[in-house]
Amino acid sequence: MNFGAVLPASVIVYDPRFVDHVPSPFHVERPDRLRAIVGRLQKEGLFDDVVRPTPASIADLERVHRPSYVDMFRQLTEGFLDPETAVHPETFEIALLSAGAVLQATRTATREGRPTIALVRPPGHHAGPDYGGGFCYLNNVAVAAADLVEEGHRVAILDFDAHHGNGTRDIFAERADVLYLSTHEYGIYPGTGPAEDVGEGEGRGFTVNIPFGAGCGDASYAAAFDSIVGPIVEAFRPDAIVMSLGVDAHYRDPLTSLTLSSPAYVDLVGRSADLAKAHCGNRFAVALEGGYHLEALSEVVAGSVGRIRDRRVDLLLTEVLDTTVRGRDPIERAKRAQRDFWNLR
Ligand SMILES: [Zn+2]
Repeated sequence: MNFGAVLPASVIVYDPRFVDHVPSPFHVERPDRLRAIVGRLQKEGLFDDVVRPTPASIADLERVHRPSYVDMFRQLTEGFLDPETAVHPETFEIALLSAGAVLQATRTATREGRPTIALVRPPGHHAGPDYGGGFCYLNNVAVAAADLVEEGHRVAILDFDAHHGNGTRDIFAERADVLYLSTHEYGIYPGTGPAEDVGEGEGRGFTVNIPFGAGCGDASYAAAFDSIVGPIVEAFRPDAIVMSLGVDAHYRDPLTSLTLSSPAYVDLVGRSADLAKAHCGNRFAVALEGGYHLEALSEVVAGSVGRIRDRRVDLLLTEVLDTTVRGRDPIERAKRAQRDFWNLR
């Protein structure tokens, strides 16, 4: 009889090389972001069960990126994908490792039924089939989701970064086996993601956009989760849930005007984990995207790891700035846009 070691309840995928990625001096997408997260996790006693990733392969990338784009990026040792997305000699290798980490997270979550969080840089959700930009080079979450699809799984991608994940959207717009659902501030970078964009062809109804305006936060996200996110995920019946977790919708974040508090952010992650537990065998993977206020970023990530592990983390950034569902109109618009596809009340 085997009384062997109990598997840890959840896993962290991380590599110290992620802090070697420096797009440019004083760039907001900076190494201190991960240092702050790791420091906070250590302080909370939560930085354990950490595994090092292996890099994604070219074949992994080419499930979602065009070979011509992968070649171009691999050969570009100095240059820019856009003015804020610089390439240096080490960028390609670190981007491969970042994609590999999210791939490993989804594989661990799927094969072992354990929630897994990939703490990575660079982020990925603005990288599309043949382009990068917005601090993103390779679409980590898309690479991982495509790997699950290859194994016959249906995947729901929940993107709570404050920016619309145009890359993820473009990669899966025509797919019916990948649900892409995004909440974001509409009108800021990259300018995409209106409620009326529901996907294309076979993929119509499997792209869901909830485009919030400035000021939307706790009450709006909770209402969107109750009336759109939860019901659509339950109806879609995914085999796994993969989250693009950007923490730039936080009220302290300098890049956007959304107003989520830390507890509301942790709730989004927690409720998504609960959906995965209830409907897809606990197959839940989280990938870090943006988030540029170090304290907000690190406490939301630590709170989320704590929530998944049933461990309490004290949160300090708890102001609730949206108490009245300021995003009622965009929520209603999103529901109208989706009414041909999903039975939403
Ligand atoms: Zn973002």
